[in-house]
Amino acid sequence: ANKIKNAKLVLLGDVGTGKSSIVLRFVKGQFVEFQESTIGAAFFSQMLAVNDETVKFEIWDTAGQERYHSLAPMYYRGAAAAIVVYDITNPASFTRAKKWVQELQAQGNANCVMALAGNKADLLESRKVSTEEAKIYAQENGLFFMETSAKTAINVNDMFYEIAKTLLHQ
Ligand code: GDP
Ligand code: MG
Repeated sequence: ANKIKNAKLVLLGDVGTGKSSIVLRFVKGQFVEFQESTIGAAFFSQMLAVNDETVKFEIWDTAGQERYHSLAPMYYRGAAAAIVVYDITNPASFTRAKKWVQELQAQGNANCVMALAGNKADLLESRKVSTEEAKIYAQENGLFFMETSAKTAINVNDMFYEIAKTLLHQ
């Protein structure tokens, strides 16, 4: 029988890194150049089939602004998965991503499947965070790592697929 597993997933990371764009790409297959800033958080749900099983992601897309930081635990508490997003053209966003990882490791669900997404991978000529540096950091911290582009769709579905597979085999 086809089993459906519900999984709460949260996106964390600096404002402007492309969290909402990643969700829009995954849920609707769309991209907009002038994505509106998220206020508070937005909710989406999306099913993903993995062989004969299905994961129903319940996605919380958070705002990322410091003034909403105190709300973040509401979204990551009890989350089965988290995607921490930085922008490969913005080193400060990578520093901020590491802070989110630390916070999740300290306060999040112990079994939380964590992924690090280096987004805007289409902007290669403006790259400021090397793939190698991020890959090593991810390995050391037990995170999935992918460089994604919500604009070109590279690795976006793959990232959710890898998370779904891990959740089903947990
Ligand atoms: P959020 O604040 O993290 O939710 O970021 P948004 O999704 O609102 O994106 C911020 C800006 O970056 C928007 O203008 C998006 O169009 C743009 N953006 C998001 N993802 C990408 C990407 O993969 N490549 C490029 N070139 N721009 C992106
Ligand atoms: Mg947003």
